[in-house]
Amino acid sequence: PDRTAARIRNTFLNFFRDRGHLLVPSAPVRPRGDPSLLFVNAGMNQFKPILLGTVDPRSPMASYRRVANSQKCVRAGGKHNDLDDVGRDVYHHTFFEMMGSWSFGDYFKEEACQMAWSLLTEHYGLPVDRLYVSYFGGDAAFGLPPDDETRQIWLEIGVQANRILPFGLKENFWEMGDSGPCGPCTEIHYDHVGGRDGAALVNNDTPDLVEIWNLVFMQYNRELDGSLRPLPQCSVDTGMGLERLVRILQNKTSNYDTDLFTPLLDHIHQVSCVDIYGGRKGSSDQEKVDMAYRVVADHIRTLSVCIADGIHPGMSGAELVLRRILRRALRFCVEVLQAPQGSLAGLVPTVTHILGDVYPELHSEKDRIMDVINENEAQFLSSLQQGSRLIHRTLNRMENKHGLFPASVAWSLHRDLGFPLDLVDLVLEERGVRVDREELDRLISENHKVVSESQSGPQSQLSLDILSLSELQRLGVPHTNDSLKYQYSLD
Ligand code: ATP
Ligand code: MG
Ligand code: MG
Ligand code: MG
Repeated sequence: PDRTAARIRNTFLNFFRDRGHLLVPSAPVRPRGDPSLLFVNAGMNQFKPILLGTVDPRSPMASYRRVANSQKCVRAGGKHNDLDDVGRDVYHHTFFEMMGSWSFGDYFKEEACQMAWSLLTEHYGLPVDRLYVSYFGGDAAFGLPPDDETRQIWLEIGVQANRILPFGLKENFWEMGDSGPCGPCTEIHYDHVGGRDGAALVNNDTPDLVEIWNLVFMQYNRELDGSLRPLPQCSVDTGMGLERLVRILQNKTSNYDTDLFTPLLDHIHQVSCVDIYGGRKGSSDQEKVDMAYRVVADHIRTLSVCIADGIHPGMSGAELVLRRILRRALRFCVEVLQAPQGSLAGLVPTVTHILGDVYPELHSEKDRIMDVINENEAQFLSSLQQGSRLIHRTLNRMENKHGLFPASVAWSLHRDLGFPLDLVDLVLEERGVRVDREELDRLISENHKVVSESQSGPQSQLSLDILSLSELQRLGVPHTNDSLKYQYSLD
């Protein structure tokens, strides 16, 4: 069978459309009217008003009963933050596609489980002896009964009893916030190895046995006093990670080996001066290079999608997170992959080639995405050069070579050059020097209010009692990739 990602995505959407679901577009990843979110991180975000009962009766959403889509999701900040896993494992991305299906007051647990099982085993052809399901096992302390109903449904569908596993609140009870709709969930996990009893590996953070689909059953409302009241209308909210499913169907050991990523890895190889991805398995240098490939491939997708949807690298909130992602990608490009300036933006056409037919804004915004990345790259590189000159100049001037590095200089680096404070620490550490943390904290809190109000970036109008930008520019030390490598360790 044709097992391209495009086909796999369409199979999901067609399956639910054929069962009465309205197909709706992905919401932009920039959340609308929800200050509690940095990025859209799940398919249900755009439907939150329906679940809360606050939907405008004139909105088309008011009539939604059965809906499905493929939602662009970013998990790089806030409650869901997978940034630290990205590159290290092979199944968490900062940007991923969540294929979702919903019932708003229409069908409930039984039909939801039946459809999910039928799609996975009959349409995608997954072997049942590779699948496990989890359900909510109850929590006496919180007065929550086990979801035996769901267990029974799985048994009737034909899942073996030893593959139906109870878990607690953390894994299998979903809550939107401190109050509001909530309920138990049931999740489907896939064993990539097989021929073993994998029950103990479910929810155990291993690449060999991975969660693929979450089905949430909204049946309670968490009241303000903390009590649970049954909802008059029960809803279903499901989400399955496309990259993980594609990995299974393309029989790969990593999401990055699927057609959602391989064109990107090939492109990165063309611009880098180091080994191919996965070249010399087992060597520690190769592992570092492989991680760089994964980080850059992941981050360029996130950058493209975010910039297309109007989130630009900046100085606060989601924009600050995006700036960190951009700079992290750039450092891997320069320091590990030894790719020339402009390489990161050069990957954007490959991203649009892979994803642009599904998310057309990637096509229409392509040039703007590349411009934003290139401008930020130029800015970052010059900040790094200026910053490292200033640090070394200051170190040379210090009388006590092992004393405290002046907080005013660290603060100036950060404020005027956007030089990350953690990088200052790293550079100093290599010279056996520490920054005057107490004074730095004082400067940070003193300026915090002004900075957050002005939102005008690192060049905001603050009085300089320390070295000015023009003085920074006069400090001339030639810079090479090697000096960068020496000064900024990556993680
Ligand atoms: P995990 O436990 O693997 O971190 P999760 O429980 O946080 O996943 P959910 O919030 O239940 O994930 O989201 C539904 C589905 O979205 C998951 O079952 C998974 O297939 C997919 N998914 C979640 N986070 C990521 C990610 N960072 N990258 C790729 N896919 C993801
Ligand atoms: Mg997670
Ligand atoms: Mg999970
Ligand atoms: Mg989950």
